Amino acid sequence: MAEMCAGWVNDAGDHHDCRFVYESPDHAFHGKSYCRFHLPMGEAGEGGKADWDDEQQAAISDDIVSRIKAEAEKPEDVRERLDFSGVVVPRRINLGRETVWKIDFSGAQFHGWADFAAARFHDRAYFDGAQFHVFADFEEAQFLGDADFRKARFHGWANFRKTWFHDWAFFRAARFHESAMFTGSSDISQVEMRRFNKVRFDGARFHDRADFPTANSMIAPISKLVFLMKPPNSAGRACIRAPNSATSIAFPT
Ligand SMILES: [Zn+2]
Repeated sequence: MAEMCAGWVNDAGDHHDCRFVYESPDHAFHGKSYCRFHLPMGEAGEGGKADWDDEQQAAISDDIVSRIKAEAEKPEDVRERLDFSGVVVPRRINLGRETVWKIDFSGAQFHGWADFAAARFHDRAYFDGAQFHVFADFEEAQFLGDADFRKARFHGWANFRKTWFHDWAFFRAARFHESAMFTGSSDISQVEMRRFNKVRFDGARFHDRADFPTANSMIAPISKLVFLMKPPNSAGRACIRAPNSATSIAFPT
């Protein structure tokens, strides 16, 4: 076995080192050695996580959740950024209603339900290049720092209903392969209107239905918004307000 985990490779083919210094790379996969966090899923019979039993698969999620909880209990001045970049999570991960401090899920792969519903992210949250293979649930989550979903891929339903972005929300070049929901409650109050502060969807692609608030709750320098196939809401129209002008974009029905 090699001394180090082979780490992970992003969509662009860039290699990233493993940050789990205490994990031994004792999982072989396609001629490389991996720690348990970075071992790919693979197909059945390939030696990846697809071959793991339920208990082994669930242990990855449990370990990540317990590390996040432990960090949240530390005094603020000793909290560190938890680097879960490139981790392959084979099962549901349940961080619903949890308090999350500095977190890095860049390039992470969620093969089960990614449950972040009503979680509170207190610092910039990195999900850039993350892949959500089933269901990305951020309903009622609060991002107190930037939310970075650049180049993220949502293969299943992306639920950002009532999600509160207190600072920048980056969805540049994100891909939504199924429904994407960014709506709030139907009763849009002043508070509701501030859910989006600064958001970028430039270059994002929506391959299915996308629902956005139709009130002026999106205030953004949106330079390029690409919708494919279906209109973003039942009215076939999303209202997007730029800093100095309101732009209403009509979609073919
Ligand atoms: Zn590793």
